[in-house]
Amino acid sequence: MCVYDAVQGWNTLPYMGLGEFYCEYGNFDYYVTVPADMIVAGSGDLQNGVQVLTTTQKKRLEQARTSDSTVFIINENEIGTAATRPSQTGMHTWHFKMNNSRDVSWSASKAFIWDAARINFPSGRKGISMAVYPVESKGYNAYGRATQYLKQSVEFYSTNYYEYPWNSAVVVAGVALGMEYPGIVFCSYKIGQASLWHDVTHEIGHNWFPMIVGSNERKYMWMDEGMNTFINSYASNWFNQGEYGDTTNREIAQMSRSFRLSKDPLMTPPESMGLNEYGQYYFKTADALIILRNSVIGPQRFDYAFKTYIDRWAMKHPQPEDFFRTMNDAAGEDLNWFWKEWFYENWKFDQSVKSVKYVDNNPAAGAFITIENLQEMALPVIVKVTEQNGTTQIIKLPVDVWRRDSDWTFKYNSISPLTSVVLDPNGELPDINRKNNTWEGK
Ligand SMILES: [Zn+2]
Repeated sequence: MCVYDAVQGWNTLPYMGLGEFYCEYGNFDYYVTVPADMIVAGSGDLQNGVQVLTTTQKKRLEQARTSDSTVFIINENEIGTAATRPSQTGMHTWHFKMNNSRDVSWSASKAFIWDAARINFPSGRKGISMAVYPVESKGYNAYGRATQYLKQSVEFYSTNYYEYPWNSAVVVAGVALGMEYPGIVFCSYKIGQASLWHDVTHEIGHNWFPMIVGSNERKYMWMDEGMNTFINSYASNWFNQGEYGDTTNREIAQMSRSFRLSKDPLMTPPESMGLNEYGQYYFKTADALIILRNSVIGPQRFDYAFKTYIDRWAMKHPQPEDFFRTMNDAAGEDLNWFWKEWFYENWKFDQSVKSVKYVDNNPAAGAFITIENLQEMALPVIVKVTEQNGTTQIIKLPVDVWRRDSDWTFKYNSISPLTSVVLDPNGELPDINRKNNTWEGK
């Protein structure tokens, strides 16, 4: 099966591993027939609980649907016992439906612990979050919290970006480190705590990119991995008042730095990207969006534009240019210079303080500060000026100062001699050489 879109026509590129899938939307109505002693977890809504669940399990599921804390459907002592199955012999057919989805997946085991809790959507609708995992993964420090990680991730992304359009989300403890499908995600059964949180929130985050916003992962890996990593950082900072967060944005900046010197730009397709460099799809993209949001257009305009992109392209197939155009349009600014330097080029960034000269050699008359852009990438300027009299001031210059030339002089109204001029004092920007960011007065 392949997608027919308005840009490529039929998308017949073969799948080659790293670049994942480009899928069309459709309604899935599927049946999984397994030996009677197995439990099936699948994408979408289970249609025939009456046939495949016990009375106790149905009662516990109803309880989970009204509970914000996690409820066991099968606890560890019940695994494999006759009481967990309506019958022990022959086969059972599990019937699921999921509408307007790119794909479905499922998992079956005799060894599942199964727990669940309610999801509260912003519209008032309710859903269900579930985890299935073997006894090896049980407990508070492992999958005992997986249903909560999943529930709260779905609630966060639904509130802040776009309401999850389906009713059910499942995390399965499995052998893969992490793999995403609509309505069901697979995480490593060996991990717990922060690693499990980050894994669950990343894999379910893919339900927004590319499963709601249906970009072409096969060609543009940054559009799903990068936008997902970007929203994951806010979810992590928020979750349980920062239990696993507040380091995420810094970590993204750090990871991004290691990929910033890659020889290939982000628009490079996955089969041509260096195998040590594909991490940039995740981290350089997320870093670019964080910098655009915090240091270029500001959170208010960015968040409005980013949500507009999701709204306009939900359940459709945006190309990279559709993202760039929507952001330009909704932010009300031509940001093509930014898209070019971050996505189409592998340019580097280095601002420096070139010189400080006082007006008429008199610090009380003001100072001319000259800054320089030493690489191809241009970004706004954040300057911290400190005077001998103890005054400090932060000055922000728009990226437009670099329109004509690679140096720029501006007047600072000093009263006393300057003791220091520091560019990007909080380390927001991806400067490759911070040594030339500081000028110190004698
Ligand atoms: Zn991913």
